[in-house]
Amino acid sequence: MRLVLSGATLIDGRGGRPIANAEVVVEADRIIAVGSAGELADRAEAKVIDLAGKYLLPGFINAHDHLTTKRLRGSRTDRAAVDDALMVTRGIQNALVNLREGITTVRDAGAPRGLSLSLKSAITRSDIVTPRILAAAQGLTETAGYAHEIFVEVDTPLEAKKAAGAMIKRGADFIKCMASIEWGHAEAKPLSTVNMDVATMRAAFDLAHHHSRRCMAHALCDEAIANAVEAGADTIEHGVFLSASTARKMAKRGVGLVPTLSGYKELRNDWGRGQDIMRHSVKIVEQHKVGFRHALEAGVTVAFGSDSLGNLLDECRTMQEWGMPPMQCIEAITRNAAMLLGIDDQVGSIAAERVADLVVLDADPISNIAALGEVELVVKSGRLIDPAMLPV
Ligand SMILES: [Zn+2]
Repeated sequence: MRLVLSGATLIDGRGGRPIANAEVVVEADRIIAVGSAGELADRAEAKVIDLAGKYLLPGFINAHDHLTTKRLRGSRTDRAAVDDALMVTRGIQNALVNLREGITTVRDAGAPRGLSLSLKSAITRSDIVTPRILAAAQGLTETAGYAHEIFVEVDTPLEAKKAAGAMIKRGADFIKCMASIEWGHAEAKPLSTVNMDVATMRAAFDLAHHHSRRCMAHALCDEAIANAVEAGADTIEHGVFLSASTARKMAKRGVGLVPTLSGYKELRNDWGRGQDIMRHSVKIVEQHKVGFRHALEAGVTVAFGSDSLGNLLDECRTMQEWGMPPMQCIEAITRNAAMLLGIDDQVGSIAAERVADLVVLDADPISNIAALGEVELVVKSGRLIDPAMLPV
């Protein structure tokens, strides 16, 4: 069936000026035309939705979430102990939470036992409409290194290459390496130190690129970020302690940043992660602000990621508060995220022949970023979704 979305102000996700009184025509799962209201379509057989006074944007993209363990309380070991069936069920629910926020694509940044792949497979084989899922399956880390409780341990380039290959055989869309630890758990330890070495990460990333998979690196301290860039990462996840010079290197090489600001902010609250983490979170957030600004100044491509505890509205509010103009925030949740994930020819902007992933907002997000929290309608691959029907 043909769907005509008519009369909204269109924000195309590519940073262009909003277009008043626009019209977007959708057929099956594709956008087939974009123009002015009333000009385009034969409306005889079409379902016309009047969006006068509303704002129409591309479906949002969450470049870093952990659907199976999102908002799960407790330590990493506690969380990893949740059984597979419950993890997949939670994953579906969390995918729907994303959809309610207007998110139509989620990159899952790693799950215990690679369960994001089971989640993706379960959703693909069912009729349930969720965001499309791209999964990193399980990250690679050093033996006893950061997140070893849930990820695969590798210590040499050969082990990393084999583990990355095995992950690709299982269906991973991305390969992830843990370039740094999260933070020291004793006061005396630094907040973040290097985890994997450059050669080991490079072996995994080279193999991934050979198989046309993009690569992500969890990296907090500046040395780990620089290592990951050197090793060939396509995106740096978190990037808390990013320096001005490493940010310039990222910009020059086209390496993107997924800062996950709102997730770290949320750690000041009690999620059962431990008192030291709650205490450190304040310092981490202060540092993150500095690193984020270095990224902005250097012109690094930034994409939105909620991580396990953040959300889209808080993330955009924080990015704006820390110096990113509203239109750039919108690019971070649409086109820029699509570019960094390598899917910008399909999603992340509103144009003919793109997948029909769209969001209708009640108010103008450029004049007030809070409008991103007022999602009135979501279109996922041409299917209309009422966000009020989805879990919070
Ligand atoms: Zn994460």
